[in-house]
Amino acid sequence: MSEDCIFCGIVDGEVPSRTVYEDENVQAFLDATPLSRGHTLVIPKNHHERVADMPDGDRDAVFEALGRLGPAVEAAVDADGLNVGMNDGEAAGQEVPHVHGHLVPRFEGDGGGAVHSIVRTLPDLSEDELDDIADAIVTNDQG
Ligand code: 5GP
Ligand code: ZN
Repeated sequence: MSEDCIFCGIVDGEVPSRTVYEDENVQAFLDATPLSRGHTLVIPKNHHERVADMPDGDRDAVFEALGRLGPAVEAAVDADGLNVGMNDGEAAGQEVPHVHGHLVPRFEGDGGGAVHSIVRTLPDLSEDELDDIADAIVTNDQG
């Protein structure tokens, strides 16, 4: 629980929400400013800022709920597809510093883009640079 976190306020019931699912670990509710009909957010009830901050139990519960609720959200608004995504960190566009997964229903011809549309200027990377990046990820992986 974080004092001035809007999503902790939703978990506490201090901030009203259209909650569509809740258990001891997670809560899902409609986004207040939906990108499309049915736009839903899934959060861990515990306050964690970044995806990597979540202990296994909360992380698993969030991704399990995203996977299970996706088809329900899609069916509820008769959508043709779904973007499932997280803005993880301020530089990635995260505005509410409490982990949340977006379920954004998509409709044929809705004019929206793919996840690839979040970046407009693609990096120009050599084969060596790609090798170095892959090596660095392996080196930094704590698993
Ligand atoms: P972010 O940019 O952090 O990934 O997305 C935050 C999301 O939370 C936005 O889509 C925004 O509309 C939503 N949001 C912000 N405040 C509230 C709120 O008080 N209630 C609900 N239901 N959604 C909120
Ligand atoms: Zn919070």
